[in-house]
Amino acid sequence: AIEIRQLHKSFGDNEVLKGIDFTVDKGQVVCVIGPSGSGKSTLLRCVNRLEEPTSGQILVEGIDITDPDTELDQVRSRIGMVFQQFNLFPHMTVLRNLTIAQQRVKKRGRAEAERIARENLDKVGLADKIAAYPAHLSGGQQQRVAIARALSMDPDMMLFDEPTSALDPELVGDVLDVMKRLAAAGMTMMVVTHEMGFAREVGDKLVFMDGGVIVEEGDPVKVLSDPQHSRTQSFLSKVL
Ligand code: ATP
Ligand code: MG
Repeated sequence: AIEIRQLHKSFGDNEVLKGIDFTVDKGQVVCVIGPSGSGKSTLLRCVNRLEEPTSGQILVEGIDITDPDTELDQVRSRIGMVFQQFNLFPHMTVLRNLTIAQQRVKKRGRAEAERIARENLDKVGLADKIAAYPAHLSGGQQQRVAIARALSMDPDMMLFDEPTSALDPELVGDVLDVMKRLAAAGMTMMVVTHEMGFAREVGDKLVFMDGGVIVEEGDPVKVLSDPQHSRTQSFLSKVL
């Protein structure tokens, strides 16, 4: 589970997160929506400490990851993150992309790391691409490799920041299918997305952010069909 308490984040004078409180229970899928600049990416980046929160607490399985003594590599190996721009290492094969952090951070031997890499490539349907370089894969395939890479670290939870936004429309479905399977297998997930269908179908909770605060949250079906707040209504009228 992940517990966010009074999270604030400023960049200079720009207060981007203005006191965020919420919880993701174990096995839950929470989808986050909101206009550009509302702080969605900053929120996710704080959760795996790519950004240093200005104040507040983030507890992951009861451990305060905002504590400066918490080891960053350990935090990040427990929290998988998938970005809009796949962020694979371009000069490494798919296999090496999946084994390098396992060996360096998890201290796994090469054979074990490769076995785990194969298992996870299989899960995302790309076992046959093990020796390929990222440039030779489609965007959707690269994103599935990125998911398999994150899974190879045995994360307690996965963060997705608009994982399908950079993809050609016909490639979106394959990536969403992988995410659906992951959710069905019980993975705890925070997903920033514009895919309202995914949020409705897979999400346990939908969070609408605007201007660095949570304006509204609740059951996705309810929030999408009957938003209570005028800001949610106006946002949804533009994207639905
Ligand atoms: P989008 O939907 O466009 O991805 P978002 O909701 O993810 O938007 P963020 O990327 O979290 O929004 O940005 C929120 C605000 O924080 C913006 O005003 C942005 O300019 C600012 N910001 C984000 N990262 C930084 C940074 N590293 N330095 C300074 N300002 C930043
Ligand atoms: Mg963003």
